[in-house]
Amino acid sequence: MLKNLLITIFFVAGLSGALQGQDYLELNTAVRCIYFGTAMPEELYSFETSDSIEQLKDEILRKTGQVQNFEFLCSNVPSVVAVVDKNKRYILYSRKFFSEQPDRALRLAILAHEIGHHSNTHALRGESPSETEEMEADEFMGYALCLTGVPAVLAEQIPAVLQLASGIDSADRRVDIMRGFRRAEASLINAEHAAWVEEKPNDVVQQLPHFPFPPPEYSTDADLDAYFGTCKTMSDVDKKLRGALEETGYHTRRYFYVPGGFALTTRMEQFNKDGSCKPDKYRWSSKIVRCENFSALCYLKSIITTEPAYFRVLVFVVTSQLIAAAPPPITRSEAEGWLNEGANRLPQEIGNLPFSAGKTNVTALVYEFRVRESDRTAITNNPSEIPGLVHLRKSRIINYLKN
Ligand SMILES: [Zn+2]
Repeated sequence: MLKNLLITIFFVAGLSGALQGQDYLELNTAVRCIYFGTAMPEELYSFETSDSIEQLKDEILRKTGQVQNFEFLCSNVPSVVAVVDKNKRYILYSRKFFSEQPDRALRLAILAHEIGHHSNTHALRGESPSETEEMEADEFMGYALCLTGVPAVLAEQIPAVLQLASGIDSADRRVDIMRGFRRAEASLINAEHAAWVEEKPNDVVQQLPHFPFPPPEYSTDADLDAYFGTCKTMSDVDKKLRGALEETGYHTRRYFYVPGGFALTTRMEQFNKDGSCKPDKYRWSSKIVRCENFSALCYLKSIITTEPAYFRVLVFVVTSQLIAAAPPPITRSEAEGWLNEGANRLPQEIGNLPFSAGKTNVTALVYEFRVRESDRTAITNNPSEIPGLVHLRKSRIINYLKN
């Protein structure tokens, strides 16, 4: 059954019937890992190399410190294929396939997986690679992705976006890929070699601050999935959240990385006991505001009241990972500090990630603090006196998410 795929590599320049710039390639591809698609063509050809794909291959080898132990050929294969034939190693790639995959992270991932088979000198015997071989190739992929600057949040998504032809479960693959990724991260942290620092590996992950995950203990939360059912990407979710926050006066916001997505935090605001916002003039003040109008009655009330003042920070967490609060609760100044740490926009690399309703969740976490008038001490208000959805309804955010 595999005979029709038979062997030996040689190039016949100017073979009659062949198109200009293509050479007939006689190569047994029975021993292989094919990344995507199963049908191999009966006749193989090699074409002129693609500079951009060559560069990606070179980048993977250089960053991972691997020596090229395979021949790298542009061919009429369905995707990218690692082949072992007569003790020689090859990677065949399809120019057409790459032209349909313009995403850099995906291109690197597919190439790195196949390179991983060769760097681990896999035999690739049998109808498809063994599970161990696939595991090692994926681990190499994760390792290479980290060192070529692909953010962890993108690396994690690879198995779901492009499945392996051998059909390994994507949840298992994610574990393997991320094991390689973390190994590379650890090596970067430990590396004293100045070259690593100069090359700035993994820029986005290093630049986008990480929100503590699992999140610190919060006062209350609200499940907002129902409002994001039509979103297709993380950017769609961000756009909707931003729109609602703009309309309701939350003009200052910060972005953080969380595993599998992002977190968006608002500036700390003072709010009324029922969850509604104070007028803009007082809302963002860190001083306790009692009298919003200067009536005598309000003034009298304010000096005899024992009511504390209420402050809150809203954190919108968009992720496919389960959220479980981890004690201890944070302090008011720690929550205020989020505004100084986060990024002012969502990086494109995360925005482009798919959002699948039902699998990716949007949750609002409310971090609430009570400040006592007597000694101005801020106390973390756990749990909040009002439910999470009331916070969002009273601040009118929900109104704008409905659109
Ligand atoms: Zn493979």
